[in-house]
Amino acid sequence: QQEEWKKLVHETTKTKDDAHVILGANIGNPGDVTGVVNNGGEAVGLYRTEFLYMGRDKLPTEDEQFDAYKEVLVKMENKPVVIRTLDIGGDKKLSYLPLPEEMNPFLGFRAIRLCLERQDIFRTQLRALLRASAYGKLRIMFPMIATIDEFRQAKAILLEEQEKLVAAGTKVSDDLQVGMMMEIPAAAVLADRFAKEADFFSIGTNDLIQYTMAADRMNQHVSYLYQPCNPSILRLVSNIIDAAHKEGHWAGMCGEMAGDATAIPLLLALGLDEFSMSATSILPARSQLLKLSKEDLAKHKEAFLNLDTAEEVLDYVKTKMI
Ligand code: PEP
Ligand code: MG
Repeated sequence: QQEEWKKLVHETTKTKDDAHVILGANIGNPGDVTGVVNNGGEAVGLYRTEFLYMGRDKLPTEDEQFDAYKEVLVKMENKPVVIRTLDIGGDKKLSYLPLPEEMNPFLGFRAIRLCLERQDIFRTQLRALLRASAYGKLRIMFPMIATIDEFRQAKAILLEEQEKLVAAGTKVSDDLQVGMMMEIPAAAVLADRFAKEADFFSIGTNDLIQYTMAADRMNQHVSYLYQPCNPSILRLVSNIIDAAHKEGHWAGMCGEMAGDATAIPLLLALGLDEFSMSATSILPARSQLLKLSKEDLAKHKEAFLNLDTAEEVLDYVKTKMI
């Protein structure tokens, strides 16, 4: 199997019926790009920038961030790179940025909520991103968007920084996309409205499942509720993908579910355009996708979306779709 996978490093990911899907990787550091390239990644589907801020005693400067973002874009040689703005709070804390103690950190002051409040931190990161955009195919992504208003505010701040940079003669890419994580049920339900504002969606199933099932993703006692293939989750995913397509946008997934061999046929059937996973999952996923027919699988969509339980869905996939 390993040998079979290795032969696929330079192949594009085309299904049996010639549908192209993009297989990307999730990274935490510029150094991870080597693994992405060696495993045949067609994109970076999620760069979690919080690692740039962690394990140190002060905020990273604009130049430090610029260097990191530029390195990833250059090493990816004009393949798409989705960089997510700071997603701190929840389980991720910074020693030099004291935040209020919270009863429910995962429902609290984190990610875009914090960035819209601490605009000094946010604007520094956006400037670094905009400057780096000249070196590749950058897609900027905002995390934990719950309302249209949050997305508009974040985008307006980005455009302000962009205007300032351009006025000062700094080159900014004219092929920049601005999208959002789909990881809060409120946004997933309202995806048709968000699709009028955002250039793309990336579905963060790690959080989307936790918030939809109201089950802490770290708590073992409720881990039985963590069901990627529950029809409720699949309907949200389907709604998000359809909404993106209706506006001519692409939809990806960067949560763990995207690299799950059982979920892949379902996601292909729902029309997912980009799958982002850990680099080592890319070749096995490509090998699987080359043998699947998107058109054939799509015929099962209505059937599996109308099952009652995750168990029934898993059973359906295994007997009819793999
Ligand atoms: C997610 O929520 O699915 C996701 C990709 O983001 P993170 O795991 O960093 O919260
Ligand atoms: Mg998340």
